[in-house]
Amino acid sequence: MKICDVEVFQVSWSPGDKPEQRSAWVRIYCDNGAFGIGEASPMQGGLASLGIIAHNLAPALIGEDPLDHAVLLDTLLHTLAKLGPEGALTGALAALDIALWDLKGKFFNQPIYKLLGGAWRTVLPFYASIGGNGARSVDEVRRVVETRLADKPAAVKIRFDNDRTKPDIDIPGDIAKARAVRQLVGESFPLAFDANNGYSVGGAIRVGRILEELGYWWFEEPVQHYHVKAMGEVAQKLDITVSAGEQTYTLAGLADLIAAGVRMVQPDIVKMGGITGLTRCIALAHAHGVELVPHQTQPTIGHMASLHLAASQLHATKPCELNDPSPRQHSVFENPPKPVDGLFHLPAEPGLGLRVNEVELTKRRMAIA
Ligand code: CA
Repeated sequence: MKICDVEVFQVSWSPGDKPEQRSAWVRIYCDNGAFGIGEASPMQGGLASLGIIAHNLAPALIGEDPLDHAVLLDTLLHTLAKLGPEGALTGALAALDIALWDLKGKFFNQPIYKLLGGAWRTVLPFYASIGGNGARSVDEVRRVVETRLADKPAAVKIRFDNDRTKPDIDIPGDIAKARAVRQLVGESFPLAFDANNGYSVGGAIRVGRILEELGYWWFEEPVQHYHVKAMGEVAQKLDITVSAGEQTYTLAGLADLIAAGVRMVQPDIVKMGGITGLTRCIALAHAHGVELVPHQTQPTIGHMASLHLAASQLHATKPCELNDPSPRQHSVFENPPKPVDGLFHLPAEPGLGLRVNEVELTKRRMAIA
């Protein structure tokens, strides 16, 4: 089996959307007619990652055996290190890795979780991940959380998404929202608070102490992601679990976070390493007794890739993230991932288990410049 074509394209989800709002997909074809699909981080529409694939990575894959995916992609990471190694390059490699695992599953006629060593669970709860709460009033936050509870999540995470150039901009307001949500869901419902890098160390500790009182489950990215020691300091001073890692793009970067004292890491399958990369992250976290809870906000390919990992992970301590519950991306699949009564059921179909609706995909597919 040889790779014969690598397609990159964006997928548009609403008429007239802008390129930076679209998903960034890749499809790898083999000479036996099979294909695998993958997805890169959609930041700015993933255009930078798709460009790297088209110009720099795809030519090196043509004619190669897709089952050599780790050797091929690690070679490219090291050859092109100066294009990255963070961000656009690792997102590009992640998309290819996911597509090559999809192909591998189809080749062996097995779901990816079987090729990873089997599933501890194929029915997976999720948490509702709710962004944009910094800009909302307390009442608006309460209302948006109430709406998302209808999907029966196992937990709720409120994200603040404040301006990263203005730390500690509204600590009393943030605390009021955290209290209001606790009041809404009751004492025992699991909650998480995502600062999206919004605080100084002192600000983070002040907020973290309140979250401890309110019984929040974890406190995500309290300070700037690049202040690794500061992140560790906050983690070590607080009792609440502090998490970070969605903006970490290398295994060595994740090791630095763990060494700093962070005890829950959240690498993202479409940003670093794909399925191969995440298996290494899981091993690293496990060796250090650190929780690994994948970050993942894309509702179809990225989500399914992440679910296969979560299914096969020995110590999966938290539910899977569900950021976008809308059906807008469902039409391009015959069997899109949808939760039933708060649970995702992982299909036993080969590869990722997603069947593409080619007619719908053709309508939404957008060439990159
Ligand atoms: Ca986050």
